[in-house]
Amino acid sequence: TEELLRKSDKLSVVGQLAAGVAHEIRNPLTSLKGFVQLLKAKNQGQEQYLNIMLSELDRINYIVNEFMVIAKPQVIEFQPKDVRRILYDVIPLLDTQAIMNNIQIRMDAEENLPLIHCDENQMKQVFINILKNAIEAMHHGGIIQIRVKQDHKRKLQVRIVDQGSGISPERLAQLGEPFYTTKEKGTGLGLMVCYKIIEMHHGTIKIKSKLGQGTTVDIVLPAYPSPEQNHFKDKGTEL
Ligand code: ADP
Ligand code: MG
Repeated sequence: TEELLRKSDKLSVVGQLAAGVAHEIRNPLTSLKGFVQLLKAKNQGQEQYLNIMLSELDRINYIVNEFMVIAKPQVIEFQPKDVRRILYDVIPLLDTQAIMNNIQIRMDAEENLPLIHCDENQMKQVFINILKNAIEAMHHGGIIQIRVKQDHKRKLQVRIVDQGSGISPERLAQLGEPFYTTKEKGTGLGLMVCYKIIEMHHGTIKIKSKLGQGTTVDIVLPAYPSPEQNHFKDKGTEL
């Protein structure tokens, strides 16, 4: 928590203001959506317009939610977790979208992996965003391969390899910039959210890509307990 407090101290006033505004937008948005749904139920013949209104409202909601993750540290709860478990929970959420696009998501994990110290929901968000990008890049179907292993420095590595359209070197440099998107319906916030969350977990994300061949995303996270944390434990300090 100390680390988090220091982080939030560093947040600019503008960032806090923006996060506050985003938060305030959510309530009226929910009420608008409720009334549009009501109108839709009552006004036959105008569904077309009302459906557009609903999907635009959903889009605003989505952007506001992603924005809040970036702009403001959420209440996060770090717990020791098995990253494979998290991935097994996430994959079914994307399976329908994958199957519709002729894509198979495969997972291959080493045995006896160490745990990671993480906020489960945030970690899920990271994997969802990255897997979604992989699916959205694979217009001709194929395989998304997830590999989980321990690297030589006792860190946990999650590698997600897709067979999608790939990213050119010029575009690669722009990844993670807010609102950078090449998709008609994209927000360009997904990767930024991932970077932010992984940074809070003291990890790194590296993206390699070849145009026309596919993209590899490597996430490296410290194992739990890390050597320093063990040291604290020996001294009887609470984590
Ligand atoms: P969005 O998905 O809303 O566009 P992201 O931040 O998730 O926003 O991604 C930004 C951009 O990065 C995408 O529009 C796309 O051009 C590129 N990108 C991200 N992941 C991949 C991938 N696996 N394959 C190809 N391009 C990708
Ligand atoms: Mg995305």
